[in-house]
Amino acid sequence: MQRAGKSYEDHRAKRFISTNQRGGAKNSNTKKNRIQAKKEGVMREDPIVVFENVSKIYKMGEVSIPALNNVSLKIQNRRFSMVLGPSGSGKTTLLNIIGCLDQPTKGKIEVCGERVAEISDDKISEFRARNIGFIFQNFNLIPVLSAFENVEYPLTLLGMGASERRERGMSMLESVGLSDHARHRPNQLSGGQKQRVAIARALVKGPGLVLADEPTANLDSKTGASIIDLMHKIQEQYGATFVFSTHDPQLISHAQDVFSIRDGELIEHRSEGK
Ligand code: ADP
Ligand code: MG
Repeated sequence: MQRAGKSYEDHRAKRFISTNQRGGAKNSNTKKNRIQAKKEGVMREDPIVVFENVSKIYKMGEVSIPALNNVSLKIQNRRFSMVLGPSGSGKTTLLNIIGCLDQPTKGKIEVCGERVAEISDDKISEFRARNIGFIFQNFNLIPVLSAFENVEYPLTLLGMGASERRERGMSMLESVGLSDHARHRPNQLSGGQKQRVAIARALVKGPGLVLADEPTANLDSKTGASIIDLMHKIQEQYGATFVFSTHDPQLISHAQDVFSIRDGELIEHRSEGK
């Protein structure tokens, strides 16, 4: 299994931008692309996330709080998946474990073809920086940076040069319809615009996996729906895997896969099978 090294990610990010410039990934299932996908280590049909009997128990003094209980699931590569559940059901815990921000108490996990528990602590942030984009409920933009600077920041962390950062950052801002707001600071943007910047920031490095934890929870329903539509469009365009969580069952229609959780248990997986 190929490790997420620099050359792989560079290649992926380049392909990501050129796909954008062509205006969409066409013929993604051609033989050539299948061979390419195999070379990259994760076939289109392979799951990008595998959970086997995963449990997470938080300890608070003497009290144990079970946040996830024996969850087994597979999230297929390049699909638009939703984790649906009420507040406190374990959505954030699940996404944090997928995103390697937290570790399970029990069980096995595989993310982007790697058994992440076996990656050393000093390598895990690099793995995350290369493979995973995050979109948060509270946007989490850096207030003193402009929209463009927020978007290019992950590329700075990857050590990319200024002219390439500029090209990719502006291209991503254009994809989310904000090229004319590049110099605005977060406090000069609406909630929906902030979330668009956050989407651009999550995607700019061309991650295989994008995690969005209740990305519409702080938006009015119309803006929230337009953000989900945008995420969907971008997911189709770039071929990344999206996993977003929500407590709003009305958003089900947007997802190809729906994982319903209650009290830390996976109670249903519905798949459109596309
Ligand atoms: P959701 O995102 O669906 O609202 P969470 O994953 O945040 O659910 O929480 C699931 C359960 O785990 C809740 O009972 C919550 O109180 C508990 N929990 C979450 N994070 C922690 C933590 N860091 N310490 C202790 N308990 C936690
Ligand atoms: Mg949550």
